[in-house]
Amino acid sequence: RAHTDAIAALNPRLNAYITTTADEALKAAQQADDVLAKGEARALTGIPLGIKDLFCTNGVRTTAASNILKNFVPPYESTVTANLLRDGAVFVGKTNLDEFAMGSANITSAFGPVENPWKRNGDEAALVPGGSSGGSAAAVAAGLAMGATGTDTGGSIRQPAAYCGIVGLKPTYGRCSRFGTIAYASSLDQAGPMARSVRDCAIMLQSMAGFDERDSTSVNCDVPDYSAAIGRSLKGLKVGIPAEYRAEGLSAEIAAAWQQGIEWLKAAGCEIVDVSLPHTKYGLATYYIVAPAECSSNLARYDGLRFGERVPGDTLDAMYEATRRAGFGPEVRRRIMMGTYVLSAGYYDAYYLKAQKVRTLIRRDFTEAFGKVDVLLTPTAPTPAFAQGEQSDDPVQMYLNDIFTVPASMAGMPAMSVPVGLGATGLPLGLQLIGRPFDEETLLATGSALE
Ligand code: GLN
Repeated sequence: RAHTDAIAALNPRLNAYITTTADEALKAAQQADDVLAKGEARALTGIPLGIKDLFCTNGVRTTAASNILKNFVPPYESTVTANLLRDGAVFVGKTNLDEFAMGSANITSAFGPVENPWKRNGDEAALVPGGSSGGSAAAVAAGLAMGATGTDTGGSIRQPAAYCGIVGLKPTYGRCSRFGTIAYASSLDQAGPMARSVRDCAIMLQSMAGFDERDSTSVNCDVPDYSAAIGRSLKGLKVGIPAEYRAEGLSAEIAAAWQQGIEWLKAAGCEIVDVSLPHTKYGLATYYIVAPAECSSNLARYDGLRFGERVPGDTLDAMYEATRRAGFGPEVRRRIMMGTYVLSAGYYDAYYLKAQKVRTLIRRDFTEAFGKVDVLLTPTAPTPAFAQGEQSDDPVQMYLNDIFTVPASMAGMPAMSVPVGLGATGLPLGLQLIGRPFDEETLLATGSALE
């Protein structure tokens, strides 16, 4: 009730939820009471969660924040949300996002922008929550959910977590099933938890993770006890500091927070090691070829025939055109255009194939670094949250937000953003931990020493 009341009071301003399910949630909470009374509680019994509106939820509208899916009601449940329901979670609503998860500020949603619950000291300007999981981050930060699901293709869990002062974890590619999650770039998309503490993320991930035969890229390996990693001794843990992340555009306050994080980990007994990830500088350029290429292919299914909205036309082609013109916003169209361009005959070798090769080099950088260290510590984003309206006219400027998050995505490594304090203007700052494949435990252990 506290959460549904908070949603009723604050959502009109924050716009964190596209769809709220208060009545269903209160009913489910009542049932959770009975389960608790019988002593049959599971890990998430009665816990109110927000679900990014990219996860298909059976019988509950799922829009991907796009006009093309504005009335789409899936007839099935995504594996990740089914796992959360199995463990007793109560869903309070579907959270806002950038259209089809394409963006870094949650300003491309067809349902309007999300507002960050934080403000700069002495300044009423509305700030962006980051993106694309901006609705989830804002909901969790403002107490409109105890936790939320996010998806991360190039930073969409970590960057909004940093901007809103919460914890966000992108698991190893393959750790969580992608079944029933609306696809953006399939070789990169990964679901993960967003919550107000590292421990809450561990509990949520426990439920979300696991092999699923309906996702051929889901990996069949054991899911360890994540909560057991919290508070684990860090004595002797080798923490790498990649030189290339001292990039241009890194704000002084984030550089200072990074240094502070290094000191805290030293004090916890970690050994700090300088490392190099030489191909970092190609991360962004490579990502913005691979991700649009995959998106142009994935979004071909929105043809007005099988899913969502249809705008009639005199011929089949005219119907496709009218449907897609009305259905997709400008950023999604830009990505489809870029993607079809880099995949087209004549450009495929120069762009897409080249990007795939560079992707391999980026992955090798990490593999080499993890021969020397156990975990990497970097900033999550170059700046804290910025004002709505700033940057939005320049897509390339917007893409620069992802400079520190995309390399781990390209390599498939697990990564987490942890809030480490407030900056000069009173806004939360986040640091990123990147780990070895399937070693989310080290992220959780190290993260719990930083938060
Ligand atoms: N900002 C990046 C993009 O627009 C990442 C988005 C994401 O991770 N879904 O592609």
